[in-house]
Amino acid sequence: MSDVFRFDQPACCLTGRRIKAGFHCHTTHSDGGMSVRETVDRYRSKGFECVGITDHRQVTPVEDIGVEDCIAIAATENGGQPDIIGVGVETAVEPDLPLAERAAMLAGQGGFTIAAHPTYCGVLPADYVDCPHLMAMEIYNAYCDAAYANGYALELWDMVLGQGKRIWGVAGDDAHLNPRKRYYSDAGLGWVEIWADDISRQPVVNALKEGAFFSTQGPVFDSIEVQADSISVTCSPVSQIRWRTFGKVGYVVYAEAGTTLTRASLPDGFRPDTFVRIELVDQDGRRAWSNPVFVHAPERAAC
Ligand SMILES: [Zn+2]
Repeated sequence: MSDVFRFDQPACCLTGRRIKAGFHCHTTHSDGGMSVRETVDRYRSKGFECVGITDHRQVTPVEDIGVEDCIAIAATENGGQPDIIGVGVETAVEPDLPLAERAAMLAGQGGFTIAAHPTYCGVLPADYVDCPHLMAMEIYNAYCDAAYANGYALELWDMVLGQGKRIWGVAGDDAHLNPRKRYYSDAGLGWVEIWADDISRQPVVNALKEGAFFSTQGPVFDSIEVQADSISVTCSPVSQIRWRTFGKVGYVVYAEAGTTLTRASLPDGFRPDTFVRIELVDQDGRRAWSNPVFVHAPERAAC
């Protein structure tokens, strides 16, 4: 039995080219205001290279969508309570089934599963902890924040992670691009940046499942390097780099007045129990969120 502190992803280095991607938007196939092609083109105009089309209770066909420089991936927003998104799936699933069953069915199609707007759905930690095929949760939903004041789920994420559930965090727009809705929800407010081998469906879905991405409202991680007992990050210029865990104090590194930060390392002596994750805050208050790095749980000797 070893109780030496170490992370689970030693010698993991996320760096190089990234794909700007969004996995929550609606088209005229449900309550969105634009066609699939117009929606993808709207995203492309904002620098996106990959969009998951998540119309309610269906998988909108995307095969004929060939907008230059931006791919569309078949996906669905299930519509159940609590709601779930499947990315890279073929068919929608019955929304009245329990969350764990819906997650299993979407994962069984090879999909990446994301719990949608958890605070809007009134989710408690156990709802996600007891859901083995749930791979990610929305930690920021721009539409829910702007229209309903319930778009963030950072504390819930930490509670779920703190109970040992390995779950990635995703930022999304929930863009409807629809002037007929009470609130106009636009594209490009919250997204993910993926370190993937190729801009096509399977490499993107694989990278999502591996957690090889971060979420953001603007600032970016240029690299995240994990060694056995250290983490180093480089990033766009920011005013704060925040090291977060659950049940222990974290650390906030502030830039000195008139300066910015572009790199940081795991603070000396910081030994989280279950996970650590990193947040960036830029000078406009926009945030980026790394995925968690998990602390290795030592094998317990049989007794
Ligand atoms: Zn939605």
